[in-house]
This record gives sequence, C-alpha cells and structure tokens, in this order.
Amino acid sequence: MSERLRHFASELLERSGSVVELIDPDGMEVLSPPEVRKVLSLPEMARLGFSSELPEGAQRVGLESDWLERFQGLLGDRGRWHYRRWRSNPLPPSHPEKILEHGFLLNNAVFRLEKVIPAWTRYVIMVFRFTALSEEKREGVIRVGINMANGATMDHFLDNLWPELFVEESETLGEDGGGGSIVAGLPEVWGGQKMATALHRSLPPRVAQHLGRFIQGLKRRQERDSERLHGYFSDMRKEIVARMAKDAKGAKEINPEDAEKYKLRLDSIEREYNSKIVDLRQKYALNVETTFIQGMVLEMPVFRLNLLLRRKKGERRIHLDWNPLVRKLETPPCEYSFTGTPLRTVCDDALHLVSLDAHSGCPHCGKPFCRACHEDHCPKCHAPTGDLSAK
Ligand SMILES: [Zn+2]
Ligand SMILES: [Zn+2]
Repeated sequence: MSERLRHFASELLERSGSVVELIDPDGMEVLSPPEVRKVLSLPEMARLGFSSELPEGAQRVGLESDWLERFQGLLGDRGRWHYRRWRSNPLPPSHPEKILEHGFLLNNAVFRLEKVIPAWTRYVIMVFRFTALSEEKREGVIRVGINMANGATMDHFLDNLWPELFVEESETLGEDGGGGSIVAGLPEVWGGQKMATALHRSLPPRVAQHLGRFIQGLKRRQERDSERLHGYFSDMRKEIVARMAKDAKGAKEINPEDAEKYKLRLDSIEREYNSKIVDLRQKYALNVETTFIQGMVLEMPVFRLNLLLRRKKGERRIHLDWNPLVRKLETPPCEYSFTGTPLRTVCDDALHLVSLDAHSGCPHCGKPFCRACHEDHCPKCHAPTGDLSAK
C-alpha cells in the first residue's frame, strides 16, 4: 500500500508542477511551487516518507494521517470523471428468446422479439459515499449504473462488469468524452437535469437497501428503550395511584391539599415521560448524506434486442441491451423509478414500462396510476405523487 501511495503522490505532485525525486527507504524529495506548498502545508523543499522506516528528516505520509485530505485539496475536481471505451468483437447471445423469457417479466402485456442487432451504447456509472448518522454511524460506498440508451439500470451485473473494464480491450478517452466519438449511433450523454432526476429517484432506495440491517437494529433498540421507559413511568404512576387509594381508605374523600399534591405529581410524571420520548426520537433519528465521488462514462458494444410491446390494442417498440462482456441482459428500465427490481407493468395510455411501485395506488384516493405519465400529481384527485422511496 505504501508503494502505491508513494506512486500516487509522486504522480499528483508532478502533475501539479512539483519536482519529485524518489529516495530510499520508501520516500521522496519534493520541490514545490508556492500554490502546492500552500495546499499541502509543505516547505519549499520537503522530504516525505511512506513506510514505517523514514528517510532522514522526512514527514510521514500514510492513510491514517490527514494526508488523504491534503491530497484531495490538491486534486480538486480533477479525476472526478473518467471516459472509457471497451472495444472488442463480442459474440452474440446464443438464445435471446430464452434470455428474455427469464429476464423480461411483464404482468399485463406481451411482447415479441423482432430482431437482435449489434449496437453501441453509453453507460454512466457513478460512485457515491454515504454516511448514515444516528445513535451509531455507518458508512459505505454505492455504485449506480444506467444505460443512457434506454434508462435501464445495471445493478445485477455492475459488480461483475467493473473489474473487466480495466483490461487490454479497454482504453481511456479524453476528458471531453473522447471528442467526437468514432462510434456511430451512440446515445447522447444525459444532461444535468435528466441525470439529477434519475439520481433523485434511484439513489435513496439503493442506500436504504444497503442500510437495511442497520435501520432494523436502530428500530429494535428504539422499541426496547421505549418499552423500558414506558414500564418505568407507568410503575411510578401506579405507585402514586396506590398511595392515593390508601389515603382515601376509611376517609370519605382525600383532603383537597393532598389531592392537589397527587395531581401535580401525576402531571409532572407525564411531562417527564413525554420529554423522554422526544429525546429517544432524537437519539434514534437517522440522517443520511450521500456524496458523489467519481463517475465514468463507458462506451461499449452491446447486442440490442428490439421488441414489440403489446397491451390491449396498443403497440410500442422498445429495446433492451444484452451486455456481451458479462453476457447478461440488463434489468428492463422503469421509465419512472430506475429501480433494480425486475418485474414491470405496462400503462394503458402511453405503454410506459414501469415498476409495480411506479403504477401503485395513489396514497390519497387509492387509484392506481402511471408515474411516468403523471410525474407530479394523481390524475384523479390531484394529490402530489409523493416519494416512492418512502413507501
Ligand atoms: Zn389520487
Ligand atoms: Zn404511462
């Protein structure tokens, strides 16, 4: 790891205008221009060491120190986006009908495979870091991949695809996405607004899925704590009531002074209980933050399965791409939610392909409707569509 870090640091420093000379053991001498010195808090001439044994007079640079943050300051937004092309002459799928039979599930429509053609597509793959903060903290990294030709997601093959992207058949393109691409028929890179909508809908359920067990654990502990609180305060309450009953024994009624004292005591128990419950809610409230780390636009050949979709009297042509590198069909797009779950329903009006959630009942009036047709409001009662991830 120290060798890699030294390699990274020397590349970054040289690209930022420093002069670097590697020295033993595992170190370097750096002569930096003023702007680099300022960001890294270094003297003009510095010695850095990357393993436990340091060159004479060297500062130690390691993953555990604040050096990653310093390097991040120097890196800025460079390297945030990576453009890549994978080129090869892939073999087509041998049984496309069979692949569709298992990979394209519709609950209210039929389809016919018209043609399988070689094509190119562009995927966008983005890496996010999420931090979930509650009584405990959880951090993790999540990748979201979308085929920009049709909005299909890459969830079920992205992990297999990722390591294959850094092999011989693959090349890095220029920062501008390769200038005019040499490949014809590529879908356009999505604009900011379209991408933002896709992320707004696709990221929260995926993060929630990653945090599933963590959230369950929080809920369990919150329930246990509230039961304890409830038990404790209801015991206190019972004790007061018992004392009142004892005082009242024999007498016709408790004297008004005592009655007032008991009443105040009961009120204060209730107030304290309510405030403890509020504290508990705050203690277990969950706040999740996601930060974009890095993105890649990937161009690669695919096999395009052109399909004719039929629902009642309507017909619509769509396509799904089969990825030859992992030899898998993509999850069919949901034209609203970008979900990774496979089952789709087809809407009556526009024959949109949507997930069952994106065609579920309105939370207000109960009428099912297509969120791709009506993104903001229910067509019947005009209630806001709401957030599917909150379901
Ligand atoms: Zn409604
Ligand atoms: Zn629709």
